[in-house]
Amino acid sequence: MKIIRTVRGLRLWRKRHSSERLGLGFVPTMGAFHIGHQSLMQRARRSCETVVVSIFVNPLQFGPTEDLGEYPRPRQTDLALCRKEGVDVVFLPSRKEFYPPDFQSSVTVSRLGQHWEGAHRRTHFQGVTTVVTKLFNLVRPHRVYFGQKDYQQFCIIKQMVRDLHQGVDMVMCPTIRESDGLALSSRNGYLSSLARRTAPVLYHALHLGASSIRDGEKSSASVEALMQSYVQKASKAKIDYLAVCHAETLEPLQRAQGRMVLLGAVRLGKVRLIDNVLVKNQK
Ligand code: AMP
Repeated sequence: MKIIRTVRGLRLWRKRHSSERLGLGFVPTMGAFHIGHQSLMQRARRSCETVVVSIFVNPLQFGPTEDLGEYPRPRQTDLALCRKEGVDVVFLPSRKEFYPPDFQSSVTVSRLGQHWEGAHRRTHFQGVTTVVTKLFNLVRPHRVYFGQKDYQQFCIIKQMVRDLHQGVDMVMCPTIRESDGLALSSRNGYLSSLARRTAPVLYHALHLGASSIRDGEKSSASVEALMQSYVQKASKAKIDYLAVCHAETLEPLQRAQGRMVLLGAVRLGKVRLIDNVLVKNQK
């Protein structure tokens, strides 16, 4: 496995490397790997000739009061996992290498980035689309692998790829969960033991909302009220949003119909959890 730390090194490697037959698969990450990340690497490994993983804690996607400094960076165990999963190249740039002092460009996806996470984390998605564009330009992948866990992020990047003719295939991989339903996240380690016990309420509430839609509930307001009262009864979590949305535009829906995504974010102490469930109802 090759570890590349410079932009120049990655460019040189890519110039010499062609994976035309089965393609080059790319998994962008911030490291602190868990089984969710591992599942993306495995999916890429199964279908691509070459697999590139990037590990970069991207300062642009953290707000001023967020955890950029504390974000876990267990580099040796991360690299060991990449090796175990048969990754070909890990791109591991320093902050200075990736954002030289005169860096001043950004990429914005306007409408999709305003809702939900975008409303609570103002500069987050612009940071994500900017870093992902830079990575796409360097790696020039054929296929990229993202988790459903960050559903809005997936939709925004898909829109960006389409709008800017970035020419990569987007693959969405299922959310990997703990046995009690909590979606794996590099930030779950911040949860106190009490918060950890109540953290699955978010997934259970979304699941309950999806079941009520499948059982014929048509009013999004009723579904949302059901999810909210579940969270409030089962925990002390503060709800940022629990919403029934169109699965592609992410606009809130009044009538629960067609392809939908139930999106949720709650705060447990200082930890913010997000999750989502897809649901379809054609009746
Ligand atoms: P991150 O390192 O948090 O930026 O995440 C890198 C990639 O892993 C993103 O595409 C995430 O959506 C994905 N990911 C994070 N958590 C999970 C999970 N529990 N299941 C599946 N994919 C995940």
